[in-house]
Amino acid sequence: MQTQLADFIKDTAEGREAEAILRNCVHCGFCTATCPTYQLLGDELDGPRGRIYLIKQLLEGHDVSEKTQLHLDRCLTCRSCETTCPSGVHYSRLADIGRNIIEQRVPRTGAERAKRWALRELVPRAGVFGAAMKAGRAVRPLLPNALQEKVPDVRRAGPWPAARHSRRMIALAGCVQPSMAPSINAAAARVLDALGISLVEQPGAGCCGAVRYHLHDQEGGRADARRNVDAWWPAVERGEVEAMVMTASGCGVQVKDYGHLLAQDPAYAEKATRIAALTRDISEIVAAEADRLEAQLLKRRGERRRVAFQSPCTLQHGLKIRGVVERLLAAAGYELAPVRDGHLCCGSAGTYSLLQPELSHQLRENKLAALGEGGATLIASANIGCMTHLQAGTATPVRHWVELVDCRLNGFPL
Ligand code: SF4
Ligand code: SF4
Repeated sequence: MQTQLADFIKDTAEGREAEAILRNCVHCGFCTATCPTYQLLGDELDGPRGRIYLIKQLLEGHDVSEKTQLHLDRCLTCRSCETTCPSGVHYSRLADIGRNIIEQRVPRTGAERAKRWALRELVPRAGVFGAAMKAGRAVRPLLPNALQEKVPDVRRAGPWPAARHSRRMIALAGCVQPSMAPSINAAAARVLDALGISLVEQPGAGCCGAVRYHLHDQEGGRADARRNVDAWWPAVERGEVEAMVMTASGCGVQVKDYGHLLAQDPAYAEKATRIAALTRDISEIVAAEADRLEAQLLKRRGERRRVAFQSPCTLQHGLKIRGVVERLLAAAGYELAPVRDGHLCCGSAGTYSLLQPELSHQLRENKLAALGEGGATLIASANIGCMTHLQAGTATPVRHWVELVDCRLNGFPL
């Protein structure tokens, strides 16, 4: 696509990156067919090709309005369009650049600013978020519906095995997961322990930075990334750990991008690139030990339950991990139910469910209908945001897939 970038951006690193992305787009529109918001709204400007055109206009210096901002706000950043695109257009990166600029150009109402500020300040702080979650559970019946569904009951985490193996990996605790579902990292630690790997959480690390970065505070997101690099680097430098393990695929996408996010920071660029290269989704780690896992599971198979796996967008479109979790669940003795339209987002998308509730709820209804069609009695996922969002709309238990493997391997209750 021919582009004439405006003076304010053309000689910047972001301008060059945006121009290269725009040049790749041949405007074929294949991506439109797999865009969840286009499917719901039927408006070209609520699909990837239309949004790319809006961002191009913005970068060329044309006037933009609240309407432009709304079409970009409605994008889930699910990256389904990237999976479909035959030209390899890195839409999500272009969207980051465009959204950052439009945020400075088009002022939001006071209420919208306050909502975004509250999310940026509350969600990434694990301690503050945990206290809010505790208070929320105490007064849940009094909360508005939209908030009630964000306050799940907490399940027992169970024991975390002592670090007894010479093979060690660091788990990211993250921001919301410790108070919403501490059982996930504990289950991952037990599964890896059975595979001869000790999983440890590193004090000082926290939110991966995705919340702030995608809520128009890219510098805040980079600050979160630097804090995590500082927390992990000593163990990495001493060669004590093999990998940084992510049990939320959304965090995995962000941490694997640290090298890019901090590329312009001479003090962090090299360390961030090294840490990004060591970062793995938990499914990649377990899949690499599949033979050992299967040997252990052979002794422990019990009742076969039928599971529908919701592959988060961050897993299948962001990390491009497809079919791996399904194989692990099958190896653990679960029966996989087919899932229609598995490429479509469930509507969670970070803070999207709070900022675009109508679209988010519609997408959840569609996803739960698809997940329910194959007669599953359990839903598995790989990302805490999707899990909480889906669980709020169904009585069918929603669990992280590693909890299901832990249940089969170690007998932990679901
Ligand atoms: S992003 Fe890709 S699929 Fe979509 S219009 Fe551009 S080239 Fe075609
Ligand atoms: S990221 Fe998702 S919602 Fe946004 S344009 Fe692409 S397919 Fe559509």
